[in-house]
Amino acid sequence: MEKQKGCYYCERDRSFQELLFEVCDLKISKVFFCKDQTLPGRCTIMFRNHYEELYEIPRALRNEFMEDVCVLAQTIQELYGADKINYGIYGDEVRHVHFTICPKYRDKLGWGRPFEMFPEHRVFLTPEQYEAEIERLRDALLKKRGMKE
Ligand SMILES: [Zn+2]
Repeated sequence: MEKQKGCYYCERDRSFQELLFEVCDLKISKVFFCKDQTLPGRCTIMFRNHYEELYEIPRALRNEFMEDVCVLAQTIQELYGADKINYGIYGDEVRHVHFTICPKYRDKLGWGRPFEMFPEHRVFLTPEQYEAEIERLRDALLKKRGMKE
């Protein structure tokens, strides 16, 4: 299925765009920079088409997706110096296959525990800072995935 009506990730309405800022397309996915930057570098990555479980995605496409996920995780680690990358797929309510890629830091919120989906005191950047972070992330991702010189 390409798109599903009413799906948060397929439709990406205004409320979505206020929380998740589009970075770029990778081979079979789309990357978003989270407005909440309590843990610097936090992103999400969605499979391009609407699937609700990893096992439903045809294997070859799922392998491409995992390559995209790994490129994103490694790029975040390199740019932000995270001590560990956490990978979250929950999706009880937002069913479209997507990972939250959450960098973790020994001296920041939630080390040693699952990352907080909705931290109490969220950290936001200025519009200029978001723009700069997204630009450098996009550039690094596309180069690492072999989609840009
Ligand atoms: Zn969807």
